[in-house]
Amino acid sequence: PEECRVYEFAEACGKSASDVISVLFGLGMLVTKNDFLKQDELEILGEEFGIEVTVKDALEDVNYVDDYHEEDIDDSNFVTRPPVVTIMGHVDHGKTSLLDKIRSAKVAKGEAGGITQHISAYTVDQNGQKITFVDTPGHAAFSEMRSRGTEITDVIIIVVAGDDGVKPQTEEVISHAKASGCPIIVAVNKMDKESANMDMVKAQMAEREMTPVDWGGDVEFIGVSAHTGMGIDDLLENILLQSEVLELKADPSAKAKGAVVESLLEKGRGPVATIIVQNGTLKVGDNIVCDTTYGRVKAITNDQGKPVKQLGLSETGNVLGLNEVPVSGAVMVAQDSDKEAREIATTRAEHARAKELSKSTKVSLEEMSGLI
Ligand code: GDP
Ligand code: MG
Repeated sequence: PEECRVYEFAEACGKSASDVISVLFGLGMLVTKNDFLKQDELEILGEEFGIEVTVKDALEDVNYVDDYHEEDIDDSNFVTRPPVVTIMGHVDHGKTSLLDKIRSAKVAKGEAGGITQHISAYTVDQNGQKITFVDTPGHAAFSEMRSRGTEITDVIIIVVAGDDGVKPQTEEVISHAKASGCPIIVAVNKMDKESANMDMVKAQMAEREMTPVDWGGDVEFIGVSAHTGMGIDDLLENILLQSEVLELKADPSAKAKGAVVESLLEKGRGPVATIIVQNGTLKVGDNIVCDTTYGRVKAITNDQGKPVKQLGLSETGNVLGLNEVPVSGAVMVAQDSDKEAREIATTRAEHARAKELSKSTKVSLEEMSGLI
C-alpha cells in the first residue's frame, strides 16, 4: 500500500504525474512525482478521479511477510523439532544466572570448550531430548519480531525471585506472555535463600490470573536455584511435557528459514548473526537474505563455538558471510541463488531508502504555510 509512488499511480490510471500532483496540492499536500502515497491518499485520489482504486501489493516478492510461502511447505517431511524457550522476568531475578546454570549443568564439560562467557542462545540435551533456550532478546529485536509475526518462542518461562516476588517488569512479562498464546511456566528462583517464599509468589501470581496447578489453575510453578542448580531437572522435564502437547514439527529438508536473535560487527570477521533455525537446515554455502542484508554463508559456529557445516531445526549458531549487519529480529531465508538473494536484499534496501527520503521531502501545506 505505501509502496506506490505518485508517478506510478499516474501511469496506472492514465493520468499525468502533474495532474496527480495538482490534485494532491488541492488537498493540501505538497509532493513530488517520486513520493510514496499511502492507502488513504490513494483512495482519496481515486475518488477525485472517479476511478476505483484497489490497493494490492505490487512488491509482494520483496515483502517481509512473503519471505516464506506457506504453500511451499511440504508436511510429508515433517519431523518433531525441539522447543524454543524464552526466559523472561524482572531485572535481577536471575534470568541470566539461570540460563548459565542450565547450560553448565547440561553441556558436558570439555564439550563447551571451557566457555564461561554468557551466550544468548543454546541447545541442551535432557535425557535424549533437545531444548533450545534464548535469553530475553533485546527490546528492539523483540518488537521487531512481533511486528513481523516471527515470534520464535514456543514456551515462555517467567522467572520470579522467591525473595522479591512480583515486580513491575514481571507484570509486563505476564501480559506479553499471555498475549503470545505460548504455554507459560513460572520458575520461582533463588529458592536457596532463607527469605524465599514460594507461597507468596503463588499468591501474587494468582492475583494476576496466573493460578498455580496445585491451586486449581493451569500454571506450573517450579522452585529453582540458579546458584545450587536445584529444580533445574524439574524445569526441563516440565518444558518437555508442555512441548509435547504443542506437537512442534518442521521440515529439515526445506529451504532454511530462521530468525536473527543477535548480530554484531566483529573485527576481522565482518558481520556476525546469531541465527535460530525454524525450518529447514542452514548450511555453509547457502545464499541467504536477512531483511536488507544478504550473503553466502561462509562459516557457521555452533552454540559451543565450534565450526559446523550446518544448523538443524531449532539449533542456533553464529553465521558469517552477510554483507552487512542485519537487524536483530530479522527473518533469515535461504534463496536458490546468490543473484536472487542479492536482488531481494537490494530491492528492499532501495525501498527503505526511498521511503526515508519520501518522508523527509513530503511536506504538508500546513507546514508550508507556517514557513511562508
Ligand atoms: P537477570 O537480571 O534477571 O539476568 O539476573 P542475574 O542473573 O543477573 O542475577 C541477578 C543477581 O541475583 C546476581 O547477583 C545473581 O548472582 C543473583 N542470583 C541469581 N540467581 C540466584 C539464585 O538462585 N540464588 C541466589 N542466592 N542468588 C541468585
Ligand atoms: Mg540478565
